[in-house]
Amino acid sequence: MKVGVLALQGDVPEHLRALAALRPGRAPVPVGRPEELAEVDALFLPGGESTTIARLLQESGLWRPLARRLEEGMPVLATCAGLILLARQLEPGPSGPNPPTFGALDVRVRRNDYGAQRESFEGPVEVDGLPGPPFPGVFIRAPRILSVGPKATAFARRGAEVVGVRHGRVWGLAFHPELSGDWRLHELFLAEAER
Ligand code: GLN
Repeated sequence: MKVGVLALQGDVPEHLRALAALRPGRAPVPVGRPEELAEVDALFLPGGESTTIARLLQESGLWRPLARRLEEGMPVLATCAGLILLARQLEPGPSGPNPPTFGALDVRVRRNDYGAQRESFEGPVEVDGLPGPPFPGVFIRAPRILSVGPKATAFARRGAEVVGVRHGRVWGLAFHPELSGDWRLHELFLAEAER
């Protein structure tokens, strides 16, 4: 299985590093053009700035092919800005106009709802099906999942709050496993996508 990382903006190198560590000898593909997307069987959408990534997706000609791959059921793991771009609905928030979204995750989200950069934090996340201790959640200007629709399932929580959902083969996380040095979530996703 060939795995790609959308490489337009954001914490791309961190995802590439995690994937290279988990599957040595199978280099992950940075995806910046439609031809590169066509090569991969699964995709990671990094954290970053969702409005910038949305603009670059349109400028690079990747928006429509990515929308098609999502419809076809490609496995995708999206973190933070990635989750925002996949949400069914974005609520108006403090951070100005929202980007367009793919609607592949049946969730309602508000951007930057935990506060500004200086209010970023780390805290334990309980993930269903993850062996070992709670996951170290890194939250940076994180989106809040306000509600989960009937087509999506919550599978990661911080206290009572949902911070990770899945909808078919698409996963969305409000936090950044690629910045935690803990690759258990990447591994869980890869193991399922490889099945
Ligand atoms: N606040 C960013 C946005 O709205 C997301 C932050 C992140 O990916 N760490 O796009």
